[in-house]
Amino acid sequence: MKNLIPKIGLEIHLELATQAKLFCSCKNDPDEPEPNKNICPVCTGQPGVLPVLNESAVIKALSLAKALKMKINQKSLFARKHYFYPDLPKNYQISQYELPLATDGEVILVRENLRKKIRIRRLHLEEDTAKNIHFQNYSLIDFNRSGVPLVEIVTEPDLNSPEEAEIFAEELVLLIRYLKISQADAEKGQIRFEANISLAEEDKLGVKVEVKNIGSIQSLKDAIAYEIERQKAVLEKGGVISQETRGFDEIKRITFSQREKEEAEDYRYFPDPDLPPLLVNEELENRAILTETPWDKKLRFEKEYKIEPKLSQILIRNQFLAHFFEEAFSELYRLTDDFEETKRLILNYMLNDLIGLLEKLKIELRETLLTPHEFAHLLFVFYQNKISSKIVKEALELSLKGEKRVEVIIQEKEKISDAEILNNLIEEILRENEKSVVDYKNGKKEAFEYLIGLIMKKTQGRADPQLTREILKDKLEQEI
Ligand code: ZN
Ligand code: MN
Repeated sequence: MKNLIPKIGLEIHLELATQAKLFCSCKNDPDEPEPNKNICPVCTGQPGVLPVLNESAVIKALSLAKALKMKINQKSLFARKHYFYPDLPKNYQISQYELPLATDGEVILVRENLRKKIRIRRLHLEEDTAKNIHFQNYSLIDFNRSGVPLVEIVTEPDLNSPEEAEIFAEELVLLIRYLKISQADAEKGQIRFEANISLAEEDKLGVKVEVKNIGSIQSLKDAIAYEIERQKAVLEKGGVISQETRGFDEIKRITFSQREKEEAEDYRYFPDPDLPPLLVNEELENRAILTETPWDKKLRFEKEYKIEPKLSQILIRNQFLAHFFEEAFSELYRLTDDFEETKRLILNYMLNDLIGLLEKLKIELRETLLTPHEFAHLLFVFYQNKISSKIVKEALELSLKGEKRVEVIIQEKEKISDAEILNNLIEEILRENEKSVVDYKNGKKEAFEYLIGLIMKKTQGRADPQLTREILKDKLEQEI
């Protein structure tokens, strides 16, 4: 048997988080619990209505296209994709076929032992369908989702393993969240995956099987892994793979045959006569703001802060965490004026303690009271040796739980190392314990430890031990 290589291409549908739907002004809220609340004649396919394109959806799609380094077509066309299904009231979906919004992009996957370019073939806009809800003997249709704007992203078959597909999907979701064009929450159906999988020797193309309607990245990975094994087994027995569309059984974790693959001609695509060509001029393109991509941020962190790729990968996993890191870093660096110590402290307490606590408490950093300034200040007090590492950890936990602000904890726990404060405190204790002073003078050395104990009790253990001993000793010696 020759060496067969899996070749995987992905098609990804993403709901854009616009206010309104793609071709009407109905609210874009597919999660609305009341069925058929956000509907109108346009998104329910009534006769005699005309679609009007939502500019904000175009801008969001453009920012994704730009971040994927795609070529943006100055002119793209909307087409009708015909098929009959109850959730599609017009019997066609408005999509883009010839001349999509953008073509030819790329994503570079970077991991420890991986550096690979995944080409993006095309990105286009289309409308979502309604939702069928099936009961035992009948089905109902909810049109709240009908007409919600989608972008469809199609990759070249450049992925070669389930793991690469997983990394690609994760990176894409991260990018989408950075761009704030969608939450890309797979559980809510905001992002859906399809995979084309074929096995062939290098430089050859096999018969491809399409697995549709995959609802999560984990399922995407499992569906691809299953399909590779299935196809391998067929080919090894000398069988042939039939070109078909398969589904993924979320319970059994296997793919199953659904139907023979439909060809493009089956959809009878033609340009939608109700919609003019979509023209993207420079002004419109510039309104698609390009924020720093997670990949650029990662590289910048490695360069600017001199941190390892493995650690920068963790810091960029959400925008808020990355922002928190940078704010806390600059504040602590301002306070300490020591780059290496700042880096050591921030990385240590962020990656080990802060992130660990967030996971343990199952909360997001942005939902907590802790600010980057407070975090930096807490580490600075530790850096000054006024609180212990144990107190830092305690303070983080209480702050993340919303029980106490960091500043309050510092006030309560900060070591008292101000000589004047300790001096007054010790004098007071000596006045109140004349007997112990006399005992000390008479050579009872235990009296010294007894007095230290009283001071610690009074300060709840915050008195700087070394300084306290020095001052107490001086005072007692003076009395002799
Ligand atoms: Zn509508
Ligand atoms: Mn599509």
